Amino acid sequence: MTHPLLDLTPLSAERFAAIEDRVTRLLSTEQDVVIMQGEALLPLEGAIRGAAGPGTTALNVITGPYGQTFGDWLRDCGATVYDLAVPFHTAVTADQIRDALAEHPEIDFVSLVHAEAATGNTNPVAEIGEVVRAHGALFYLDAVASVGAEPVLPDAWGVDLCVIGAQKAMGGPAGVSAVSVSERAWARMAANPAAPRRSYLSLLDWKQRWVDAGRKVLLHAPAQLEMLALEACVDRIEAEGLETVMARHAAAAAATRAGALALGVGLEPYVYEASNAAPVATTLRVPVGVDASEVVAAALAVDPSLPLVAGGGALASSMIRVNHYGPAADPVVAGACLTALRTVLAATT
Ligand SMILES: *Cc1c(COP(=O)(O)O)cnc(C)c1O
Repeated sequence: MTHPLLDLTPLSAERFAAIEDRVTRLLSTEQDVVIMQGEALLPLEGAIRGAAGPGTTALNVITGPYGQTFGDWLRDCGATVYDLAVPFHTAVTADQIRDALAEHPEIDFVSLVHAEAATGNTNPVAEIGEVVRAHGALFYLDAVASVGAEPVLPDAWGVDLCVIGAQKAMGGPAGVSAVSVSERAWARMAANPAAPRRSYLSLLDWKQRWVDAGRKVLLHAPAQLEMLALEACVDRIEAEGLETVMARHAAAAAATRAGALALGVGLEPYVYEASNAAPVATTLRVPVGVDASEVVAAALAVDPSLPLVAGGGALASSMIRVNHYGPAADPVVAGACLTALRTVLAATT
């Protein structure tokens, strides 16, 4: 008996390239877009290891846990790294980036996370891109949590390495991801003797054997189910319209932020300014004396389908994340989350 997930005809290089083209259009980019056969950490790490080496001086912006990881990879590559950390309840400003670049003019690589689902903030990439461009540094952006929830425009913003994943606002699979690569970024990698080659992490392998070879033969068997899921996810976004998908996320975030304050149970937006709050997920601070993990556990005991999670690591006791992304980017879902939180908190406090 044939099974819908198992007995598939192999995914052709042609179909793979067509999916790549549609992802390229979602990013409004002329750059090469490579779909990587792994979760977004694969291109995130591959792009850093490809572009950075002992000769690199990097400005690593930390607005959440991912920025920390990128700094570790950059140091691993032998780069000199200047960290610019801002409190997780805010966003970095273009002026802060300008000052850091003026202080260390030798910086030739800037790494930034666009939106952080883990902290709920989003950074002004368009303004930062202008500053980075004027300085001439290569600009690396983690747009995994922003794509689909807010505009992500690598060309307009001067992003050289823009990494996306489908598992957040795109409402798609987690097992494949993509990176758009500028000519400058390819040149930087080609000139980097430490850039991975003949490696699963290698973007240059894909450039040489896929992009430059006319996208005729895949490097290895593709993650077929994930590629089909990505295709279905792009189908759905195209049918709804990217603008509408983004508007749905913005509406869910606004409803959650305003609704949390209106509950009157002591919940406050974790990100102080609404303009710094990410449309992908809303983070909330619980009242003093209340444990966020316990609140989330109690709410999920009543309705396990709610997209609620406690903050990660040190934030587990103080932060609640409302992950209103993908199909959950809906004011009705946001309302159900708030109702559940009110019930639990009213019983606790
Ligand atoms: C979610 C996310 C990723 C991908 O990480 P997962 O934990 O595997 O989903 C990468 N970067 C950022 C900023 C994210 O929010």
